[in-house]
Amino acid sequence: MGLFDSLSKNGIKNVSTSGMYAKTDTTIQMSGNEKFKDMYQDTPQFDEDSMILLKKYSCPVCDSDFQSPTVKTGKIRQVGIEKNLKPIFDFRFEPIKYEPITCPKCGYSVMARFLTPLTSFQRKMFIESEDYSFVAPGGLNNKVVSYSLAVTKIKMSLVTAIIRKAKASEKAYICLKGYWLCESYLEALDRGEDDGSGKNPDEVRPEIQADMEEFSQSAYDGFIEAMQSERYPIAGMDEPTLDFLIAEMSVEREKYDVASKLIASILGSNSASSRIKDKTRILKEEVLEAIRNKKNSQ
Ligand SMILES: [Zn+2]
Repeated sequence: MGLFDSLSKNGIKNVSTSGMYAKTDTTIQMSGNEKFKDMYQDTPQFDEDSMILLKKYSCPVCDSDFQSPTVKTGKIRQVGIEKNLKPIFDFRFEPIKYEPITCPKCGYSVMARFLTPLTSFQRKMFIESEDYSFVAPGGLNNKVVSYSLAVTKIKMSLVTAIIRKAKASEKAYICLKGYWLCESYLEALDRGEDDGSGKNPDEVRPEIQADMEEFSQSAYDGFIEAMQSERYPIAGMDEPTLDFLIAEMSVEREKYDVASKLIASILGSNSASSRIKDKTRILKEEVLEAIRNKKNSQ
């Protein structure tokens, strides 16, 4: 099983996440993640359609003009933030569903923040790739994007990024958003929401769980590579924010040595905000306790 197996029906073959960064890590078991699942138990369903507008884009590969749904600015309120820095929005709305943009003609897919003109070389790499003979996924022209379609579009964005040899930070950013999207997807399934896949939720859940773990691991590997090879801001994050994200993901993987180093660096930094330092102190306590528990159980 690989992350892109589900894309074979969309004409994508032979692309894999292995080797997408210069260094690849081994698989590490993930531990559970704190959720805000019960925070808005009584929130009524809201009209997602009214939050969305269709925006015009021009494809940087085939030059065709098309429309893609995007979230209206100022329409949706952030109400909190999860421990892993994932923002939480009112009405459990998940704007990540609207980040990937897919050209309906050639299938070029990209996260909105990375939609920039391409060099002729990048364009050529995409056009001539034998691994991408695009078959449009169902619902591509709908205004409201289902979770099932959003996962397909975000995977296509990752395939596109791999084909045009995007920077590690771009691929890691896509994987981070994929990881968060899958978290929201699983929560939506738990609430009984229609995911647009037409499949039984019990059939979908293990697939999304597997995708989530692969996205998470690929985000972790990619950001570690990016922090060693790129200049800040990395995927829009300053050094303390990225350090915190990697520290938190390291704790999930019980890599306490990596986490401790990053925590020390954030707490000693002049540029870190008090908000990120406060979060880091909480994470530090968690690391110290985990190390104590580990010693006691030996
Ligand atoms: Zn196109």
